[in-house]
Amino acid sequence: MDIKTSSNFIKNIVIEDLHTGKRKEIITRFPPEPNGYLHIGHAKSIVLNFELADEFKGKTNLRFDDTNPVKEDTEYVESIEEDVKWLGFNWENLYFASDYFEEMYQRAVLLIKKGKAYVCDLSPEEIKQMRGNLTEPGKESPFRNRSAEENLDLFEKMRRGEFGDGQKVLRAKIDMSSPNINMRDPIIYRIAHATHHNTGDKWCIYPMYDYAHPIEDAIEDITHSICTLEFEDHRPLYDWVIRECEMESQPQQIEFARLNMTNTVMSKRKLKLLVDEKIVDGWDDPRMPTIAGLRRRGYTPSAIRNFCREIGVAKNNSTVDIQMLEYFIREDLKPSTSNVMGVLRPLKVVITNYPEGQTEMLDAENNAENADLGSRQLPFSRELYIEQEDFMENPPNKYFRLFPGNEVRLKFAYFIKCNEVIKDAAGNVLEIHCTYDQETKSGSGFNARKVKGTLHWVDAKHAVPAEFRLYEPLMLEDERSDTNFLDQINSNSIEIIQGYVEPALKGAKPQDKFQFMRHGYFNVDSKNTTENKLVFNRIVSLKSSFEIGK
Ligand code: ATP
Ligand code: MG
Repeated sequence: MDIKTSSNFIKNIVIEDLHTGKRKEIITRFPPEPNGYLHIGHAKSIVLNFELADEFKGKTNLRFDDTNPVKEDTEYVESIEEDVKWLGFNWENLYFASDYFEEMYQRAVLLIKKGKAYVCDLSPEEIKQMRGNLTEPGKESPFRNRSAEENLDLFEKMRRGEFGDGQKVLRAKIDMSSPNINMRDPIIYRIAHATHHNTGDKWCIYPMYDYAHPIEDAIEDITHSICTLEFEDHRPLYDWVIRECEMESQPQQIEFARLNMTNTVMSKRKLKLLVDEKIVDGWDDPRMPTIAGLRRRGYTPSAIRNFCREIGVAKNNSTVDIQMLEYFIREDLKPSTSNVMGVLRPLKVVITNYPEGQTEMLDAENNAENADLGSRQLPFSRELYIEQEDFMENPPNKYFRLFPGNEVRLKFAYFIKCNEVIKDAAGNVLEIHCTYDQETKSGSGFNARKVKGTLHWVDAKHAVPAEFRLYEPLMLEDERSDTNFLDQINSNSIEIIQGYVEPALKGAKPQDKFQFMRHGYFNVDSKNTTENKLVFNRIVSLKSSFEIGK
């Protein structure tokens, strides 16, 4: 069930622009760089851009901002398309910034002709040193006053590959003493002899983000170019490029706070390191905050969308509790999954008064809140498995599960009473012997006496072996820049357990989701599940103290 986004400052700008006639139509874009997989932070931007345009009958483009050949790859392009679609969004057009390289080049030529750009021979380090700082103005480059002819000639030679990487750059000629350091003759083109995933070896000069992005937006007639807060100080440069390159279209850059989440790394560079160092099992490891990881973990598109809507859009950075994401997946799965039984750490129970060789089928309703999910059949016979922690030989006070002399209810089945504990020579409990009361069959209306504990179980003969993977956050702390993040990795982020599930789950397919009584919501793993072995990823446990609005 989808929730609605409340109003926010960007929506208000859009409403105003339509109202005053500044804009006839709303066009937004989602512009990932294909240098990694999308993560939950990107989802925030996707939901914002697509739903904003959609609400006002506008359009959204998916645009690959692929101006940095060294880090980009078609694998990432494909995963990004898949993830945006999976999240439930359809783009109007699919574009590559690299398709605009020729136009960007021509606009740079225009800047040179206007005396607004020059080729500079300083090294990137020298340029940085001469940039000044917040209190001191920058120093002008000795190459700043080259003639337009010389600049045109050099820029063309840069394009033709006559110089090596880093030998020359093209800089915008703005103001070396601007209070905004971004305006101090920023680099707009650099030389990189590298093969590009889209344009191959056609180019050896590549535009810088601050130059390329406004041109990309203008070419596509984007009206509202939404980006994260770090770019606020770049906005004057964005507007400068639009104006000086004489773009016909006038996009407006608007900044919002990026998503940060507790115990979560959200930088592609760091996520890539986790993958490359094999600290995780690929970009889709269920512990990763990537869309692919969340999908494999068992998150649904609607839970992610609802989370993104609920966190809202603000102008100041903050950190969202990961429990809020968990809240939305529970809300989604509670009414839509079957309540089934799985035993993670089995303890054998023998029902000594149940006839040997007999099996009966019991009716089990799939979801008490959703009759549409129907029911299934559960076999019950003389030997069962219960959870080890559901039995104690010497229980403390208020322990309502099984112990010698105590009676409990087996979910969907009978009351059983523990009579005997069988141990090995070392004193370990091997199995327990119980008797059942035939009168107490679930659904029979029996209510002559009450028991306090209800246990989940599986029938031993029909149990299906299964692997359960339980997760803890991958990071011990929130994302910080002052520590080496590899030191913050939680070495106990995965626990793998071999247990059993009831036979109704035998044919479960990858990505099928279930609620296992007492253990939480699980998803059938799409990578490691085989014909012969079911692997379940725990999405979330059943309960949390977290509530929306607290
Ligand atoms: P990273 O630093 O992880 O590489 P990025 O911002 O460089 O992230 P891009 O591929 O350039 O990644 O991002 C595409 C879009 O997604 C941009 O518009 C960016 O603002 C947005 N975005 C990225 N991370 C977040 C986040 N944590 N919260 C909200 N929006 C984000
Ligand atoms: Mg980026």
